[in-house]
Amino acid sequence: MATYEPVIGLEIHAELKTKTKMFCASKNNPDEMHPNVNICPICTGQPGTLPVINKEAVNHVIKVGLALESKISEITKWDRKNYFYPDLPKGYQISQYDEPICLGGKLKIPGFDKEIRITRVHLEEDTGRLIHFGHVGHSLIDFNRAGVPLMELVTEPDLHSGEEASAFAQELQLILRYLGVSDANMEKGQMRVEANISIRPVGSEKLGVKVEVKNLNSFKVVRDAIDYEIKRQSELLDDGKKVTQETRGWSEDKEQTFSQRVKEESHDYRYFPEPDLPPLRINFSIIEGIKAAMPELPSQKRTRFKNKYGLQDDQTNILVNNEQLANYFENVVSEFMNWDKEGLDKDSLLVQGLDSKPHLLEKEKQLLINLAANYILSDLLGFLNEASATADDIRIDAENFAEWCGLLHRNIITSRAGKDVLKEMWATGKDPSQVIREKNLVQIEDIGEVEKIAEKIIKENQAAVSDYKKGKTASLQFLVGQMMKETRGRANPEIVADILKKLLK
Ligand code: ADP
Ligand code: MG
Repeated sequence: MATYEPVIGLEIHAELKTKTKMFCASKNNPDEMHPNVNICPICTGQPGTLPVINKEAVNHVIKVGLALESKISEITKWDRKNYFYPDLPKGYQISQYDEPICLGGKLKIPGFDKEIRITRVHLEEDTGRLIHFGHVGHSLIDFNRAGVPLMELVTEPDLHSGEEASAFAQELQLILRYLGVSDANMEKGQMRVEANISIRPVGSEKLGVKVEVKNLNSFKVVRDAIDYEIKRQSELLDDGKKVTQETRGWSEDKEQTFSQRVKEESHDYRYFPEPDLPPLRINFSIIEGIKAAMPELPSQKRTRFKNKYGLQDDQTNILVNNEQLANYFENVVSEFMNWDKEGLDKDSLLVQGLDSKPHLLEKEKQLLINLAANYILSDLLGFLNEASATADDIRIDAENFAEWCGLLHRNIITSRAGKDVLKEMWATGKDPSQVIREKNLVQIEDIGEVEKIAEKIIKENQAAVSDYKKGKTASLQFLVGQMMKETRGRANPEIVADILKKLLK
């Protein structure tokens, strides 16, 4: 059996998030439930109407191009792609053929240490949606989606496995979301992946005959369909047969690709320049403006999280993939940093546990950051998943979560008690010291027992005792802290202080 190298290029469409459609003032609302309400004479292709270019959509594509380090064209133009299908009322789609908005560029796939070259990114319009009623022999059509701005990105044939292609699509989705240009939800059809797949003998430079697989509607399907196709093509060549250039679909049930049609060539579409739209000049100042407003990109965030917080790769990846949770984590970390400057809330049990100075030592900061990351990515994420909520729904404010981390870190509560406290905080949004007091997780009610522990602490901390007797009141705070530690936070600090004072008289 010969060994083959798989070669894959992707074509990815994404519906852009804009107020209005690509060439008219109809609303672009992917969540509209009623059919044919966001329509007008332009997006339903009535004779005599004229398109107007949506600036927001153009800016979105420029943003994508800048994120991918593409060359933004000074002049870009529009073309008609002609074909007949009932979801395309004009009989042509306005697209961009030979002068797209973005040329070239690259995208690095995380985890693969590999850069994939981008061929181009252009802008076009989406079609309507056909709803088939096979059992009664007719179809209905909804034009709400007709004319919605659609971005198409084409890659060079630089990918070599289903896994890589799927990772590429995931990273692109993340970028589109970070940029705020598309929700890019694959299940909702907001992002659609087509994979071009061929194989060639290892060592050969010449590309093999490619097959295009359409309608890949999840990352798993992207991976599975490509891997299936690689295997199918390898078996054909092994048997001395040839791969036919064609368009194939993916059958969810059979987990196989199947032939749909022999692939059309671009000359079949009779592309010609759109006579109703002038070419568009993209000003340098527009590009500079968009550049200045670019958000942090996923790859930049990954590097920053690793370097600044010392997180592990898998922790970094979960946070970078969940922007809201990453923000929450950073808010918690900034609370740790504030402890230095502002000290702590006087009511916090943490103050009691921190001898007299509530400052964080440098080495404690890293421990706290690790602790926060661990609990955010296990317990907190568990709560979120259970409730199908997002990080924006977290009722525990960052200050309280940070305090809770401190209580655990300084052993004021056990991690067992800590979990109960966190659960209560999740449910009520209360601060941890309050929960601990309310739940009597601290209180040792028996004064005799507290006295016994106090005697032990006094015996073990003679230096602090003599400091206190010399008038250093801070030493009392230290002894209270030792008591809180000894009781795992289950004693009332005021009572503890009173008992210590009494015993030290
Ligand atoms: P078409 O005209 O059939 O659409 P293009 O040249 O526009 O083909 O390429 C479409 C996509 O297919 C691109 O992502 C490109 O990288 C990829 N591609 C082109 N040739 C091959 C091949 N032989 N094997 C795998 N992918 C290919
Ligand atoms: Mg193509």
